[in-house]
Amino acid sequence: MTSGRLPIGSYVRIEKPSLQAILERLGRLGYRTIGPQVVDGAIVYAGLESVNQLPVGWIDHQDGGTYRLEHREDAGWFDYVVGPQSLKNYLFPSEQTVLEGQRVDGKWQLHSPQWAGEPLAVVGVRSCEIKALAIQDRVFLEGPYVDPAYKARRENLFVLGVNCRRAAATCFCHSMRAGPGLNSGYDLGLTELDDCFVLEVGTKRGGDMATATDWTPCSLDQMRQAVARVRQVKESMRRRSEEAISSDGSPRGRHLETAELRELLLDNLEHPRWDEIAKRCLACANCTMVCPTCFCSSVDDVTDLLGEKVRRRRVWSSCFSAEHSQMSAGPVRQSPKARYRQWLVHKLATWWDQFDSTGCVGCGRCITWCPVGIDLTEEVAAIRGEQA
Ligand code: SF4
Ligand code: SF4
Repeated sequence: MTSGRLPIGSYVRIEKPSLQAILERLGRLGYRTIGPQVVDGAIVYAGLESVNQLPVGWIDHQDGGTYRLEHREDAGWFDYVVGPQSLKNYLFPSEQTVLEGQRVDGKWQLHSPQWAGEPLAVVGVRSCEIKALAIQDRVFLEGPYVDPAYKARRENLFVLGVNCRRAAATCFCHSMRAGPGLNSGYDLGLTELDDCFVLEVGTKRGGDMATATDWTPCSLDQMRQAVARVRQVKESMRRRSEEAISSDGSPRGRHLETAELRELLLDNLEHPRWDEIAKRCLACANCTMVCPTCFCSSVDDVTDLLGEKVRRRRVWSSCFSAEHSQMSAGPVRQSPKARYRQWLVHKLATWWDQFDSTGCVGCGRCITWCPVGIDLTEEVAAIRGEQA
């Protein structure tokens, strides 16, 4: 069936290759579409014109400081988990021009760029990323100052979400109530079954887009299979996080106990564990760069050699750099200990005071991409006095 708009909340069955029809309709409507692809040994978002570019058959193995891809004949279209990038890279890019100036007859003429958001569709977005998007919305759109560039991009974003069929050992979205199943915030949601996709309509725009495909009504059995898939992932995450080492020798899963977490961290600012972490932390800032919710930036001016043109740019910054807390007498947070403590306490405790939510969605990127494998779930457990 192809006619009419599918109502919000509909579930339909589509053949896997039918996803191509949605990509084509997005293109006709002026969207630039990006989706997961294997690039340089990792799965990242890149321009997506054909379903043949998707990482079919690839899965990722992740652990502290470790990321490896494996191709398996029995793996599906979306069996990888999350790569180093997130929606942050597109809505809050690492570098952005905020002001431009030119000297004319000895006087500076300054102007702000136009904030016209290019329509962007993202395929394969996971529930933790959508939760992180909601957290960034709170930061950039819901405070006293609205970020015009973020707003323009956000209003033109189409999200095609995917329910996770497996979790990496570093994932703990179940602890943060951010996954592994889609909950809200997507235009279309996919659940991959062995022989088809179950497609769920999340918005009117999604309902329009879904009619590009040859869909058929979803049977009760397919609906049950789709729900069961997500439940199985959640159960496997819980089970793996309770095992010291899993029965098949794969790395243990993670869990973060969130009860009284804010109080725990604020009551333990002088805990000896911070010194232990500081012996390992390189203050490289990788954890903040890959984190889908970290939002710090700094501003600098770049001029041409003649000093006739200037560009003011906003670039990602990190609480792990000394300059981040620079005051007239020097940096406030002089040691890696102070910087790691600032990051973790903000992320898991004082974020609540600032934004009325946690700053962590349990995606595990900061564990995977930390070159020395520092693991925030382990650090919190140690501060609680538990064995991680
Ligand atoms: S915790 Fe890891 S990733 Fe973060 S700054 Fe320290 S060494 Fe780098
Ligand atoms: S703190 Fe780590 S696990 Fe939490 S959202 Fe950021 S990168 Fe993901």
